Amino acid sequence: MTKFVYDFAEGNKDLKGLLGGKGANLAEMTNMGLPVPPGFTITAEACQAFLANGREPAELSAEVTQHLAALEVRMGKKLGQTDDPLLVSVRSGAKFSMPGMMETVLNIGLNDQSVRGLAAQAGNERSAFDSYRRLIQMFGKTVLDIDGDHFENALDEAKTAKGTTNDLDLDAEDLRKLVETYKQVVVEQAGREFPQHPREQMDLAVRAVFDSWNAPRAILYRRQERIPADLGTAVNICSMVFGNLSEDSGTGVAFTRDPASGAKGEYGDYLQNAQGEDVVAGIRNTLSLSDLARLDPTSHDELMGIMAQLEEHYRDLCDIEFTIERGKLWMLQTRVGKRTAAAAFRIATQLIDEGLIDEHEALQRVTGAQLAQLMFPHFDDTAAHRKIAQGMNASPGAAVGKVVFDSYTAVKWSRSGEKVILVRRETNPDDLNGMIAAQGILTSRGGKTSHAAVVARGMGKTCVCGAESLKVDTKARHFTTSDGTVYEEGTVISIDGTSGEVFLGEVPVVDSPVVRYFEGEIDPEGTGADDAGELVKAVHRIMRVADGGRRMSVRANADTEPDAARARQFGAQGIGLCRTEHMFLGDRRSLVEALILADTDSERERQLAELLPLQREDFKGLFEAMDGLPVTIRLLDPPLHEFLPDITELSVRVAVAEARGEPREGDLRMLQAVHKLHEQNPMLGLRGVRLGLVIPGLFAMQSRAILEAAAERVQAGGVPRVEIMVPLVGAVQEFESVKDDIVKVARDVRAETGAHLEYLVGTMIELPRAALTADQIAESAEFFSFGTNDLTQTTWGFSRDDVEAAFFSHYLEKGIFGVSPFESIDREGVGELVRIAAEKGRERRPGLKLGVCGEHGGDPESVHFFDEVGLDYVSCSPFRVPVARLEAGRANA
Ligand code: PEP
Ligand code: MG
Repeated sequence: MTKFVYDFAEGNKDLKGLLGGKGANLAEMTNMGLPVPPGFTITAEACQAFLANGREPAELSAEVTQHLAALEVRMGKKLGQTDDPLLVSVRSGAKFSMPGMMETVLNIGLNDQSVRGLAAQAGNERSAFDSYRRLIQMFGKTVLDIDGDHFENALDEAKTAKGTTNDLDLDAEDLRKLVETYKQVVVEQAGREFPQHPREQMDLAVRAVFDSWNAPRAILYRRQERIPADLGTAVNICSMVFGNLSEDSGTGVAFTRDPASGAKGEYGDYLQNAQGEDVVAGIRNTLSLSDLARLDPTSHDELMGIMAQLEEHYRDLCDIEFTIERGKLWMLQTRVGKRTAAAAFRIATQLIDEGLIDEHEALQRVTGAQLAQLMFPHFDDTAAHRKIAQGMNASPGAAVGKVVFDSYTAVKWSRSGEKVILVRRETNPDDLNGMIAAQGILTSRGGKTSHAAVVARGMGKTCVCGAESLKVDTKARHFTTSDGTVYEEGTVISIDGTSGEVFLGEVPVVDSPVVRYFEGEIDPEGTGADDAGELVKAVHRIMRVADGGRRMSVRANADTEPDAARARQFGAQGIGLCRTEHMFLGDRRSLVEALILADTDSERERQLAELLPLQREDFKGLFEAMDGLPVTIRLLDPPLHEFLPDITELSVRVAVAEARGEPREGDLRMLQAVHKLHEQNPMLGLRGVRLGLVIPGLFAMQSRAILEAAAERVQAGGVPRVEIMVPLVGAVQEFESVKDDIVKVARDVRAETGAHLEYLVGTMIELPRAALTADQIAESAEFFSFGTNDLTQTTWGFSRDDVEAAFFSHYLEKGIFGVSPFESIDREGVGELVRIAAEKGRERRPGLKLGVCGEHGGDPESVHFFDEVGLDYVSCSPFRVPVARLEAGRANA
């Protein structure tokens, strides 16, 4: 029989799939002997069964009864017992952390009787009624679906009546009255009484947590974070401890290192006389852990000891939630904490130095996506700034945009192409849409562990929080700075998530130190001990480990000499794709047009001869920038009409000229050519190798330019490593025909120049037929490069230029795929063709060189796939080269 309930002492940290992250870690801490309030966890499997059948599994209730009874024996009191109630929290906890996305209900077990028992036991009537009103509020919102504003407004009214804005000024009598008001709200809004029976409260709360798995914001968050939709959440039932009993009670959140920069030291927020979500909700401004050391040195020291123990045990940064009940410390949660990209690199290298992890493990602690984030620009310190506020540096980055005050406007404006900054007093999970749409988030309340901060860091989005000097008035749609200036919605501001500064207007941005390091401008050995210097050192060290461990090499897609030089600085080990089409544009357009219009062999040859020296110069630059490294040059690929004027524009021009009685001969001829070359499906038409076969001399001219450039480099003492690549091959016969011509050209160039020339001729594999007949093609081709852009287009039958805008959002919403197959390789379909072609190719030609040059070559997930299927290299845009190096290292670690 499936077991649906586990006591905390029965689990461990590796059971996250079953017990959820929170449950698994509560179990781990319990078994480490840390002070965790006793409790039990209902498994995610129970939730899955509930979601599938619309009701709890039959056995669940009896199992809960059994574990609850054991908990009651242990605690020496019963749930909701009139004179001395056991109270519990009911908290969600899925395998992957989804901060604030699902539900929690605290203080279950309180009712009209037991609230008095609690007051008597605690000797504190105020806190008993405070706990009761919180229960009704959370239960009302979560279980009974009542709009939280009804409760918030009643609380505000109670405070106004008392002439205060601080909830601590409400006394026992005020709170008792508030409880009555809340119960009235429940009757009015939900049409039922607030349930008085403790077990009914608990069962309904568990069900609400199960249901909250499919709350719209949870669905959105999962989609954003690529968390599978069918995991379900576990539910933790934990005996309550109280942070709201007295001034020597409180609740807090802490990190074992700074989750923003990775600097060593303890970081956290503490709130006296408070409970549960108060800290993260930014209700009051928080104290720091050093304030706690002053207020309660014993609990502080114990907390520091536990934090050190947790770091050692988890061998990583941990974040924790704790409560102090009358001077007694309790641990309510821990997990390996979320962190910024910079912190991830720094912490990984610190942990190596501390002997907690080895280099290979350090490599697994960072990701290519994080490295990519670190390469984003930041604000230019030397530019004029007008600082209007200072907040906390919650999530790094430099964001510029127009101020908006709600999620709806953020989404609306960003859809119409505006960049926006979402400004709120504090955020809550309902703001998620707006946070996704915004460039950055600015709040006036809450610390580094507030909702805004945690969610923004998770999304890699810039966030400044707790900018206390700002008065945010979302109703009036403006904020006011400390000098009284009012800024309306739509004002452009710049926020710096690394320093916490807020500037008026658009501040220019500059390259990141990580990019400057890759460009050789910052010496990692010589850099200073500030955050940027430490980051560069950490990145350098991790990159060395990645480079030392990877099997695949990394090349760049680069068409010009400056691009190639930059790519080499970024660590590219060659060019995997030089697209030659750009060499046919710009000034050379007229030559190309003349070539296309040529109607005699001699005319065509004349135009080709003019293009030859220009192309030769292009290639010489590339060989020079990549001296000693392989350079794959692809012969012309796009359909010819791309080099001619637009058919509509030209038709209009011709018609207008004719109407004026001034027909132009040149335009007319051009229009005829454009009509001749017009195709309904140009991507499936006259392009790639087909062009080479149809336009005599075109590929031969390009090959000659390549080989002559190489010969010149050889004669100048260089080492060009030439790879000529034929695009869009579907059959070996096409390839062989082009290859024959190239071999002839090479023979001639060798004879003419006397240079000792080495070169390879290979093909792109970008059509399913090429993949399936790869053994035949490998007879003749000396290398394959997978063109996964076209291979995705032709395998799915998706037009790569149209479908993303046309219907991919529907496909993503329906879960047909989790990510666009043009972004991340479709392993089962397109990937399978890559695997087949790699195997067939290597069977026929052992040692056949295999690479990929589609966009997927720089996508972290896909890099792991290409390593798995045994490719020799990936090739991607220069800026993504470091990311691909890192991921290739991680794939092989
Ligand atoms: C490809 O198809 O994957 C490729 C690299 O070629 P292009 O993007 O130029 O079609
Ligand atoms: Mg292609």
